[in-house]
Amino acid sequence: MVYSPLTNGTAPHHNKYSSRYGTPVTRVIVHHWAGTAGGDTRLTNPNADVSANYILYSDGRLVSQVPEEYRAWTSGSPAADNPSITVEIQNSGNGGDWPVSDAAINKLTQLIADVARRYGWGGVGDAQVIGHRKVAATACPGPYLFARLPQITANANAMVHGGAPAPGPAPSGSVTEIAQAVIRGEYGNGDERRNRLGAQYDAVQAEVNRILSGGAPAPAPAPSNDVSALADAVIRGEYGNGEDRRNRLGAQYDAVQAEVNRKLGMASHPAAGPDISALADAVIRGDYGNGQERRDRLGGLYDAVQAEVNRKLGM
Ligand SMILES: [Zn+2]
Repeated sequence: MVYSPLTNGTAPHHNKYSSRYGTPVTRVIVHHWAGTAGGDTRLTNPNADVSANYILYSDGRLVSQVPEEYRAWTSGSPAADNPSITVEIQNSGNGGDWPVSDAAINKLTQLIADVARRYGWGGVGDAQVIGHRKVAATACPGPYLFARLPQITANANAMVHGGAPAPGPAPSGSVTEIAQAVIRGEYGNGDERRNRLGAQYDAVQAEVNRILSGGAPAPAPAPSNDVSALADAVIRGEYGNGEDRRNRLGAQYDAVQAEVNRKLGMASHPAAGPDISALADAVIRGDYGNGQERRDRLGGLYDAVQAEVNRKLGM
């Protein structure tokens, strides 16, 4: 059972949960109870078909209900909950803009950073933290919390990138079980993994190496053929690094890695490359001729520029 190390306790789930059917955890869905009381009672009512991965109180207490490896019944549909860690947050006042406490917001921020680290997201952005209302016809979370999600997201991202580290879970289970958790990305890489595994590092790492070298199938996501989607998953950290990434991507490694480099290069050096949009404008003005002449003059940029021309012309 996977719970955040930030957890202060657990609440009964009455088996109100489902399999994620292999869907990787890629985001947190934020909810509020719409009340200062009663929300936890409803969530833990054995006769109510609702649950959450976490219940967060106004005093900052974080209670685990459904273990993270399972889909909680929180957001109104399996499609919404399958890739999500769900959090139900107590309000600090009733009605109005449905406020929540600073203690709850602080703990939520820490939880998001902790989840991002453990699932190897590499960072936290708008796609990783969403309000319930984004995926269902609901006013949840209320205006107070919903308006603060961008700041919470930015703060969690800062924590992932060098802020105070969230405490790691004390490793529990057999060496093989811990090794499987390492392979799933729950213990990070390099020094982080070493620190969190402590005295068990050498034994667990040896088991990781044994499993990855063919001792048993690693639970790697089956690569799809969508190079762009795979590149996004690599950037989120879902395919590890170095030899691990190479093994898991197999024959698609070169194509996906090239796409990763392209995406990361464009993101960090937007001014360094040719200005495809300006070239497309010049083509449309006729500066580059037509047919083979245009192709010859644009050379390696032809496909990208022509695609942009077609886009601009609405083709
Ligand atoms: Zn909700």
